[in-house]
Amino acid sequence: MNKDISTIDGQCHCSKVQFTVTLTDGLHTAWRCNCSLCRMRGAIAVSTNLDDITIHTGADNLSLYQFNTKTAKHYFCSTCGIYTHHQRRSNPNQYGINVACLDGLSPFDFAEVDVLNGANHPRDTRNSPHADHVGVLKFIPAD
Ligand SMILES: [Zn+2]
Repeated sequence: MNKDISTIDGQCHCSKVQFTVTLTDGLHTAWRCNCSLCRMRGAIAVSTNLDDITIHTGADNLSLYQFNTKTAKHYFCSTCGIYTHHQRRSNPNQYGINVACLDGLSPFDFAEVDVLNGANHPRDTRNSPHADHVGVLKFIPAD
């Protein structure tokens, strides 16, 4: 896969929410997270700066979900329920974008994805510099 994409269109499942995003470092930033929300949501996210997403349609159809410290802002389509993006707690200057919403991309295109330790969030702990990284999720290719 080409991980060096920059600007790409995306939408939720029902297409009411449509956007264009310019990624900070293509698909190289792809991560999953083991926090209480992400482990249920199961999405792979990539990073963009707050100014680098343009929502063309459906901004008023997005719902906001917040929990715990209510720092992060998790947006999802109120019609189809699909998570599109969230303002990050670990870097509030960035959004995480659901790669599955990006044109032509699927979580299953990734062989390996970094897993961030959102369950012991770096903003809650003063552990090692690597406290925010717990491992790598590997997809086993089907033969
Ligand atoms: Zn939708």
